[in-house]
Amino acid sequence: MATKEDFYKLLNIDRNASDAEIKKSYRSLAMKFHPDRNADNPQAAEVKFKQIKEAYEVLSDPKKRSAYDQFGHAGIDQSMGGRPGGEGFSDIFGDVFGDIFGGGGNGRQRSNVQRGSDLRYNLELSLEEAVAGTETKIRIPVLVGCGECKGSGAKKGSSPVICTTCHGHGQVRMQQGFFSVQQACPTCRGTGKQIKDPCNACHGQGRVQENKTLSAKIPAGVDTGDRIRLAGEGEAGERGGPSGDLYIEIQVKDHAIFTRDGANLYCELPISFATACLGDAIQVPTLDGEVKLTIPPETQTGKSFRLRGKGVKQVRGGAIGDLLCKVRVETPVQLTKDQKALIEKLRESLSSGGKQHSPQEHTWIDGVKNFFDKLTG
Ligand SMILES: [Zn+2]
Ligand SMILES: [Zn+2]
Repeated sequence: MATKEDFYKLLNIDRNASDAEIKKSYRSLAMKFHPDRNADNPQAAEVKFKQIKEAYEVLSDPKKRSAYDQFGHAGIDQSMGGRPGGEGFSDIFGDVFGDIFGGGGNGRQRSNVQRGSDLRYNLELSLEEAVAGTETKIRIPVLVGCGECKGSGAKKGSSPVICTTCHGHGQVRMQQGFFSVQQACPTCRGTGKQIKDPCNACHGQGRVQENKTLSAKIPAGVDTGDRIRLAGEGEAGERGGPSGDLYIEIQVKDHAIFTRDGANLYCELPISFATACLGDAIQVPTLDGEVKLTIPPETQTGKSFRLRGKGVKQVRGGAIGDLLCKVRVETPVQLTKDQKALIEKLRESLSSGGKQHSPQEHTWIDGVKNFFDKLTG
């Protein structure tokens, strides 16, 4: 199978895009690649269209999006099972345009219940936790379905009655000039039901505020900005409606030694002046313990050493990264009189040796000289 393009890229949105943003982008792209608007190359438009549609199907579905965010295309191919790819083009268009033009009353009944809001929880992790994965308990205040009335909003023993204004349709027709306009019923706010005797615990809302403790499994390799979706753990819907989702957004704290860029880790490695000159085997920290690194003689500041496989395995897969250690030669400080004398001796010896001991310095001095020679003509 050919490698697939990133779904977020296809829809031209970033990874944090809201459901509304996803939908908006999908709609405008679907219009753009309509075959009627691409008469010069309808086949290419159709291919593009199918890709956009597939991306939208995944990203607009919380479960599939979560699988995709965590495992990439592999996560989706698994969860979609053996869905045949041979869907007819007209089928695809039928439901896009039904969707785009808001399905103007053609049979589809608008749902009477309201889905609860999605929630976001910012979770700070150490670099070690993000790399190795962790299991954590989070405590969040949420609106949950009222236990007293089972979410109906009606007092125990009573039940909501059919709204007398709209007779349970949730919609009313209003006459405005020549037009008859359908609107959500003002009495029952579109639910089609009225609560005569509200529940004491939730005051008829069907939901109550509660602190809930959730256990969340954070997969290994997550990074700042990654989101983990816990489907159905958001706010409860109004009056028994489905719950929203909870997003755990990862924020990785700065580490004292390492910085991370994708799969690679970076660190700065201070070495002594003597080690830089003569070379040595030194211990270098990695996320899974110390390793030995051989510093060759005559090592300069800025030289990077790559420790293969000592980086990060990213959550979306791919090879494990490397650790890059960048050398910084440390100038000795707080020198004793004897040490100063030794270095003074060393200086004399080095300068009598001329250019060969500090090739960079001399190249630089020559460059400066050339620069001034040119200036003075
Ligand atoms: Zn209640
Ligand atoms: Zn009503």
